Amino acid sequence: MTSTTAADLAPLLEKIARRIGAPHVLTEPGDTAAYLREERGLYDGRTPAVLRPGNTEDVAFILAACAEAGVPVVPQGGNTGLVGGQMPFGELVVSLARLDKIRHVDPVDMTMTVEAGCILDSIHKAAEAVNCLFPLHIAAQGSCRIGGNLSTNAGGTAVLRYGNAKELVLGLEVVLADGRVWNGLKRLRKNNAGYDLKQLFLGTEGTLGIITAAVLKLFPAPAQRTTAFLAVPDPEHALKLLHRLRGLAGDGLTTFELMADFGIETVLKHMPGTVRPFADRHDWYVLAEFSAPTRAFDLGALMETGLEAAMEAGEVTDAVIAASEAQADALWRLREDMSEAQKHEGGSIKHDVSVPVSRVPEFLARALPAVTAELPGLRPCPFGHVGDGNIHFNLSQPVGMEKAAFIDMWEHFNRIVHDIVTEMDGSIAAEHGIGRLKAHELAHYADPLALELMGRLKRALDPQGLLNPGKVLDV
Ligand code: FAD
Repeated sequence: MTSTTAADLAPLLEKIARRIGAPHVLTEPGDTAAYLREERGLYDGRTPAVLRPGNTEDVAFILAACAEAGVPVVPQGGNTGLVGGQMPFGELVVSLARLDKIRHVDPVDMTMTVEAGCILDSIHKAAEAVNCLFPLHIAAQGSCRIGGNLSTNAGGTAVLRYGNAKELVLGLEVVLADGRVWNGLKRLRKNNAGYDLKQLFLGTEGTLGIITAAVLKLFPAPAQRTTAFLAVPDPEHALKLLHRLRGLAGDGLTTFELMADFGIETVLKHMPGTVRPFADRHDWYVLAEFSAPTRAFDLGALMETGLEAAMEAGEVTDAVIAASEAQADALWRLREDMSEAQKHEGGSIKHDVSVPVSRVPEFLARALPAVTAELPGLRPCPFGHVGDGNIHFNLSQPVGMEKAAFIDMWEHFNRIVHDIVTEMDGSIAAEHGIGRLKAHELAHYADPLALELMGRLKRALDPQGLLNPGKVLDV
């Protein structure tokens, strides 16, 4: 498909245009450009056309027509994915952006039925309007779309309490590779009637079907939150603190993020309006948040009690507790702006890995010297959802090194980091997925039987290999 042009596909595109409207079949470079460049600039996509269906039936029509013509497609939501899964390399793009309706909100069932193209932030707002919470929070929430979140099984900063995207779904509507629509839009909390088919499409990155709608779980809205930014001596003490705060607040501990000094300094240097939390610099920091849907107890007092004890035990060396919502937001920015700030420091080689929570300090103790020994001046920027065992083990290039030469070392660093992760019973893809970027890494590290089962599922659901080819599975 790499050299297929819109002219080659003219009969198919005309047929689709008659169904979805010619303005929604984009073929001009000026119109398709935004769909072909991803966040990190790692890939330049190529496509004969971007298709913008307006509803589930349109998506079904497109996939049936493409199946008949043997033409592959790549589903795309908000195009914020970090592993190139949404990038076409000659395939047609099916953008879900126009499927952006909230079909139903039910504060009694505590569910919301949404179309795949709804922007995550709009789902948050719709939940808030009925005094509920949809707890998936990631820094891309202003532009990513729920179909993309579910297809990547996105994580984010509230997984500790609420789980990954997969755990927030009750039902799905999916268009299969042959164009048939599976309606699994059930609002049931209990449903053991046969195989749980929705799991096939959650986290499988558009390789087994296109999600067109979902029933999401809602939760009671928080009535209070307390946010603290803390300096900790090292990751071991951070874990002790995690254990302490969870012991105090239970499920009320909704966020626990670890950040290294380099990351915080990078944010403070490059992101306007960010504020240094402490007079002194420290090697490691934690952002911790308590929240609860009740005012029956005082989370602020609980946090203060916990931190006093943690300081006495040497787990925390400096602390600030937000005194207002504005201050809490400012503390959050230090964490949320980290990926953006890193772009200003040149090339960055990223590893989105996880290990058992208890082994995070050991992972860092092994991986940090292993990578810095390879390249003088390398600037590691580990941060992430340490309460879930998920570290974004990012490496910023040495100052003055040519960016392209550094990025050429990606595979080299992959081998070092992913070998350590694998030896520690961890995962080479904690929350961003496999996409194109890590398909060969999955082939290298996955259990052969697991790969065989994945291949069998792929062939069963997509026998012609037309759904997002070359993603996840290296075939
Ligand atoms: P896209 O990028 O468009 O697509 C992602 C994948 O899903 C592709 O494989 C695509 O083919 C497939 N897909 C999209 N829509 C559908 C559909 N309807 N049906 C089937 N397949 C589909 N991720 C985390 O997990 N945690 C984070 O904290 C986090 N933070 C981020 C912060 C920033 C600044 C950015 C840019 C990204 C971050 N991400 C994070 C990455 C995350 O995967 C995406 O932001 C998001 O989940 C993808 O949604 P999207 O709509 O942009 O999907």
